[in-house]
Amino acid sequence: MVYDLILRRAQLHRQEHLVDIAIQDGRFVRISPDLSDASATREIDVAGRLIVPPFIDAHVHLDAVLTVGKPRYNSTGTLLEGIQIWSERKPDLTHKDVKQRALEEIRWEVAQGTLFIRSHVDVCDPKLTALRALLEVREEVRDICELQLVAFPQDGILSFPNGRELMRQALELGCDLVGGIPHYEWTRDMGVEDVHYAFALAKEFNRDVDCHCDETDDPLSRFTEVMAADTLQQGWQGRVTASHCTAMSSYDNAYAFKLMRLLASAQVNVVANPFDNIVLQGRFDTYPKRRGITRVKELLATGVNVALGHDSIMDPWFPLGRGDMLAAAQLALFLCHMSGYDEIQDVLDLITSNGARVLRIEDRYGIAEGKPASFLVLDAPSAFEALRLVPARLHVFKDGREIATTQPARSTVKGNLVTFTA
Ligand SMILES: [Zn+2]
Repeated sequence: MVYDLILRRAQLHRQEHLVDIAIQDGRFVRISPDLSDASATREIDVAGRLIVPPFIDAHVHLDAVLTVGKPRYNSTGTLLEGIQIWSERKPDLTHKDVKQRALEEIRWEVAQGTLFIRSHVDVCDPKLTALRALLEVREEVRDICELQLVAFPQDGILSFPNGRELMRQALELGCDLVGGIPHYEWTRDMGVEDVHYAFALAKEFNRDVDCHCDETDDPLSRFTEVMAADTLQQGWQGRVTASHCTAMSSYDNAYAFKLMRLLASAQVNVVANPFDNIVLQGRFDTYPKRRGITRVKELLATGVNVALGHDSIMDPWFPLGRGDMLAAAQLALFLCHMSGYDEIQDVLDLITSNGARVLRIEDRYGIAEGKPASFLVLDAPSAFEALRLVPARLHVFKDGREIATTQPARSTVKGNLVTFTA
């Protein structure tokens, strides 16, 4: 048997021994400690490097990426000024402008191994310009990346003129998921209604739900519990994601633990966004300054599925970033105090298997015989080293096809070297 491709001496996450991996017709067909009896059209000796399934960006805003500085830079760096700048930019959006920026950013993510992306799309625009552009992008990138689109009401469902109807139109046009933004509505009651409306649409159109929820330091912002209750009442377990939930870091422990147990029983996923959360939250504090990222470690311990998003890449909210989910995972490791040895292993799951659960793509995700051969070769031997170094993604494969390669940087120290003797 001559396979299409064999990877020799591959290290899989959480496995003790190296394996050889054979790929045929776009799928993993044999994974074994030794395939020396087999050959392939192409063989790659990965020499003990880590092979992982593609990274997953569970939360990004492709309509806003790469707009930093236009029409102006965010001078305070705050979330609210970001929303203000975005509302100034929105009337100038064109179909071509959105598509060009989104495609460029997707290329950045793909080059760094992220092949599954969930993007929120602002639908508080009577013309739905960004959505129409991203629906085209979703189809155009299918060969390199799977894109999910969430109807996201940036300025509110109830607090924005015709917000309900725009959400409905977005779903009719083909949005994959229903979003929401309860903490941003004018009143607490309107926030509750925001969530109820999202779930009503989800039921009507049979879609999953992913709301921006409690993205604030306000300890009284408590809409994640409403999402959990609606999930249970509607029987939507496993189909709902609460994004950000930064207020959870400001809740008192008694309430936080009640909420986390409720989320676990409702099988609600939580997505944290380390770059934006650390930069945008804590802005009203003097010192001590809150970190404003949700309780990732405690949620995992309670049995809640948690994944990560990049959220912003060079936009009014976060001016930096290069679309690297491994960098997002490294930052989460620092911010969430997940530097214990086993916790470091868990951090890699936040951008791989946990993300797959959020996007509900587990049937076609992972390194196992019979699954599509989509994977990355990292220039590191383990999750520990990958999170320490944030190394190059040497090879990126989708369905057995190589779609990106990166040469690692190499440094040379010149001059007189110090010699150590024992
Ligand atoms: Zn967001």
